[in-house]
Amino acid sequence: MRSGSDLLGLTWACHRRCKHCYDDRFRPYVREDLKRVVGEGQSAYRNIIANLPEDMSFADVSGARKRTLLVLVGGEVLIDGVREELFYPVLEEIGRH
Ligand code: SF4
Repeated sequence: MRSGSDLLGLTWACHRRCKHCYDDRFRPYVREDLKRVVGEGQSAYRNIIANLPEDMSFADVSGARKRTLLVLVGGEVLIDGVREELFYPVLEEIGRH
């Protein structure tokens, strides 16, 4: 039985440095470092989306099929250097899937 949601992490780029963050790879990246970290997501997302299940649903405890959620998470996907380079293309690819 699958859960009701699946997470798709897009990038480590984030404009904050929260002390409570669970992973120190989430942090601000600038210039070439931003391109590099966004490039990791750019090189991975098509394969990840291509391997999503055809049926994005799960069986609840009664066996009934329910739709799952695909939750897109960052870092921060709306900042300059991430939004148009990675986030929008990911949305378009999901729409084609
Ligand atoms: S990923 Fe979330 S918790 Fe971590 S630094 Fe960014 S905003 Fe803060």
